Amino acid sequence: MNASAAITVTPILVAELLVEDEVMPVYVHVIDHPEGRVLVDTGMTELHPAVVAAFDPRLYPLTGQDFVVAGIAMVVNTHLHADHCGGNHLFASTPIYVQRRELDDARSQDGYTIREWADAPGLRYVPVDGELELLPGVRLVPAPGHTPGSQVVVVETGGRPVVICGDAAVWFGELDEPSTEGQRRILALDPEEVWLAHVGEPWRPGAARAEDQKAAEARHGHDGSAP
Ligand SMILES: [Zn+2]
Repeated sequence: MNASAAITVTPILVAELLVEDEVMPVYVHVIDHPEGRVLVDTGMTELHPAVVAAFDPRLYPLTGQDFVVAGIAMVVNTHLHADHCGGNHLFASTPIYVQRRELDDARSQDGYTIREWADAPGLRYVPVDGELELLPGVRLVPAPGHTPGSQVVVVETGGRPVVICGDAAVWFGELDEPSTEGQRRILALDPEEVWLAHVGEPWRPGAARAEDQKAAEARHGHDGSAP
């Protein structure tokens, strides 16, 4: 059996945000790999006045789920907006891979994220410059657009790759008609499917879209800002 066929990706719902009166789910993703479990983004675990005011969140934090924090060998942050790094504090003894540019921006720009979440005590960030093979068949690829320092995770599962894209695309329409370098880079990988942080189903190239998804995109558009 091809070793890469044993790698799987599982979404976990960790929060729901209210954005323009619509519920926007927040997912993190677990990669089960023969050499260890990788968690991509950490969602949110507590309410913060800034987040409550903006998004009135409902939280389903990892710690309250059938989820073993200690079973995670490494964490990846696609980027450091608050809805993607709010659970980082749970992984203080675990290496957290993030692009160096993203880490620098989050630490230097006011309003970029919730600083005490992104820089919780004891976090062990591993700053990454460009592509990195995290494990055999799992690699990090920079995908600038949503933020300049965003990255995606490319998983080889035996056929075409599976991509976990964070907010490199927030809506399916952004992959149907890519407009950022990051989105074009994802499509150039010829992915089988792409998992977004705020959609519960993976995007697939050329797939017929559910009408409600199309309608949601038409209502919202997207201005590139957080979340
Ligand atoms: Zn987000």
